[in-house]
Amino acid sequence: MEGEVSGRNFIQQEIDNDLREGKYTNVVTRFPPEPNGYLHIGHAKSILLNYGLAKEYGGKFNFRFDDTNPTKEKTEFVQSIIDDIKWLGADFGDEVFYASNYFDQMYDAAVKLIKKGKAFVCDLTPEEMREYRGTLTEPGKDSPYRNRTIEENLELFENMKNGMYEDGAKVLRAKIDMASPNINMRDPILYRIARMTHHNTGDKWCIYPMYDFAHPIEDAIEGVTHSICTLEFEDHRPLYEWVVNELEYPNPPRQIEFAKLYLTNVVTGKRYIKKLVEDGIVDGWDDPRLVSLAALRRRGFTPESLKKFMELVGVTKANGSVDYAMLEYCIREDLKLKANRLMAVIDPIKLIIDNYPEGQVEYFDIDNNQENPDAGTRKVAFSREIYIEREDFMEEPPKKYFRLFPGNEVRLKGAYFVKCVDYKKDGQGNITEIHCTYDPETRSGSGFEGRKVKGTIHWVSAESAVDAQVRLYENIVDEEKGKLNEDGTLNYNPNSLTVLNNCKLEAAFKDAKPGDSFQFLRHGYFCVDSKDTTDELLAFNRIVSLKSSYKPN
Ligand code: ATP
Ligand code: MG
Repeated sequence: MEGEVSGRNFIQQEIDNDLREGKYTNVVTRFPPEPNGYLHIGHAKSILLNYGLAKEYGGKFNFRFDDTNPTKEKTEFVQSIIDDIKWLGADFGDEVFYASNYFDQMYDAAVKLIKKGKAFVCDLTPEEMREYRGTLTEPGKDSPYRNRTIEENLELFENMKNGMYEDGAKVLRAKIDMASPNINMRDPILYRIARMTHHNTGDKWCIYPMYDFAHPIEDAIEGVTHSICTLEFEDHRPLYEWVVNELEYPNPPRQIEFAKLYLTNVVTGKRYIKKLVEDGIVDGWDDPRLVSLAALRRRGFTPESLKKFMELVGVTKANGSVDYAMLEYCIREDLKLKANRLMAVIDPIKLIIDNYPEGQVEYFDIDNNQENPDAGTRKVAFSREIYIEREDFMEEPPKKYFRLFPGNEVRLKGAYFVKCVDYKKDGQGNITEIHCTYDPETRSGSGFEGRKVKGTIHWVSAESAVDAQVRLYENIVDEEKGKLNEDGTLNYNPNSLTVLNNCKLEAAFKDAKPGDSFQFLRHGYFCVDSKDTTDELLAFNRIVSLKSSYKPN
């Protein structure tokens, strides 16, 4: 990984240096979401990174809502964000912080800057302000209001607070440098007038601080040492430093940037997800094809799998997309020993064992997980009528097809050998049932060595089968075909969801509860859907198939 020495990422190296040099004596990090949407996998990276660092250095991790911008914020999101962070296992102590709790201190900070001659009230219109700002190649011009006296500025700013001006009529600006090559430093706006009801402070304020002013103050108030954010804030760092230095915080926090996490074949942009929801392509922000944390949880991803994924991805300064297959690898690894491996027939066809006594049921002890002896065994019912997968039978098999076909013998996983003696079709030529005979000598566990068969198939006894719905997923977009159409709309995969309604599961599934995960033998890992499962419907989401296109190095 980029710039990595002895397994330490560049942020850990920076913190190591800071501690060695005595710049800080402890480590305090934070995760500061804006409550304007659901958290997604990118946020999980930030959460686990910040939480992980605090834990590693024996420091503190603050969870703070960056709720300084009331229009876009909804209390609905506050709860979902709290739930997601808890689910991820990032322990933020007993306290949830809110940036809006610091509005008084932010106001005082602004007054302090005015008193230092470092901030002024400006009456330029937004258009004028744009003109004065200059461009990347040309310096800006000083505002004609820049030289107002401190007294005048104090009075005007107080009037702003007291609601004496229209929304947008005036702003408070930092007095820095209109010729700075960094446009963020050209007398940026610190406060604006906007009459908006805030979910926390109600109508107390009609002026609100801008992000670049508020954020460093929030960090400083909480004693954050390392304010870790994503790369788009790199150019804002000088302003962050200006704010904490001019406000003379002892031990001010420092900002460190890392690259955002992007994943192939998924959508994270709120704009696109919103459209998918509105067009009814997905059934909400937690649709299992999305990568919001609510969606990943519903699909069956675990916090452990996300942690493992973030470790594999690492922390870098370089933007790039990570292969979705890597995320799949991580959940497979996590569930490998945890999930019991049961038999589920998702596209059933009935198989009748002509020479097996009618009404008889016998039970086989089958391992719950061949790779994990601790998982124990279970009793699996076997009877004259069973279900097998439609694709495990062919009338006219191609070469190297070792499953069931007329005259061929296969092993029923954990039970007997059966040989196909007949099959029936309906008027359209669909196979409706298969007839076999079994050989009692071949009973599993009997040590039978008389002959070998090349194919083993899974099955479910009809008398005790559990009915279920199974949803198979493909990626919502196919990166190779292009994520966007020419008109800028999302080029989504029309086959991203397949619903199978007539699935037959072995009796052990009877007790499956929402959120439980299993391996369906030969099919992959599946999780009981927590939204659609009811007393009448048992619905499963395929988390991931068993085949992997990603190999860890
Ligand atoms: P989005 O626009 O996707 O919601 P955001 O940056 O506006 O992202 P915030 O709620 O403002 O979302 O961000 C909270 C924290 O999460 C910030 O520190 C931000 O840098 C970080 N973050 C957001 N997206 C990602 C990502 N893809 N990878 C890593 N960190 C991210
Ligand atoms: Mg945002």
